Amino acid sequence: MQPQEFEVSIEELNRCSQVIKALFEPMVEQFRGDWTSQEGQTEKPEIFEEFLKRKIYHVKKGQSLAFFAIGRLPQLILLSELEEFVEAYFSLPVIFLSDQEINSIPSDAWRSILCYVPQANANSILEHVIKPQKEPNAIRFWGITAITHEDLLCDPDDDLDYVYGLSRAGEPGLPGIAVVSTRRIWQPDAVGFELSRLRLFKLVTHEIGHLFHVQHCLTHACNMNGVETVDQIDRHPIEVCPECMAKICWIGQIHPKARCDQLIAVCERLNMQSAAGLYRKCRELL
Ligand SMILES: [Zn+2]
Ligand SMILES: [Zn+2]
Repeated sequence: MQPQEFEVSIEELNRCSQVIKALFEPMVEQFRGDWTSQEGQTEKPEIFEEFLKRKIYHVKKGQSLAFFAIGRLPQLILLSELEEFVEAYFSLPVIFLSDQEINSIPSDAWRSILCYVPQANANSILEHVIKPQKEPNAIRFWGITAITHEDLLCDPDDDLDYVYGLSRAGEPGLPGIAVVSTRRIWQPDAVGFELSRLRLFKLVTHEIGHLFHVQHCLTHACNMNGVETVDQIDRHPIEVCPECMAKICWIGQIHPKARCDQLIAVCERLNMQSAAGLYRKCRELL
């Protein structure tokens, strides 16, 4: 068998990650209520070198990322903008599958506690709504992500539990799956359209980052930081740190320069000036 030829070597990714390092801050100071302060949080940092030891397979040429909505999304959410941003972030085409009705979520996945909005169990959505899409789309998709405006939970034994999203990475030949909720972050009346959109882009790219087998980042201010509060989402940048960037680029076989070029163009088109500025600085150093 011919050894597979890669477009981006580990050495080149190490070089790229080194030269942009100075542009990234250490993990933002943590506050009570943040993800890192949660009981039972035992994740450990994983540097690029350790990530490589896991010998994860690569995205195959021709694969795409799929999206669909479950139930109605707020009108102002423009999936075409999300599509553009995600395509640049992961250098993969995005394809939309048919949207699903809210009643595709099994009735026993719901809970209603006191005066909270009803919440749906994200595990049940992965299992019963998204997983059935895996086999029919084997090979074709690297990941399938559902977006919903329903509030999600992960641990039904914890009355206060909620999550912004949940994901399960794929296996060779089968796509990973993820679900993201816009319920707690989409507040255009309170914080404006642009901040709401930035939060949405952060959540979706974070969950897809997990589909690239990237774990939570504990070293830098990074889009792969675990988050518990909206404030925490707002504190970290939309970009991944140099270590997490190297992981995504390795799995996707993307050159960081090409990725930066695409991201600069899309951030300018979508008027995301601060993100565009960061990508321009990265590009100069690369
Ligand atoms: Zn996460
Ligand atoms: Zn990171």
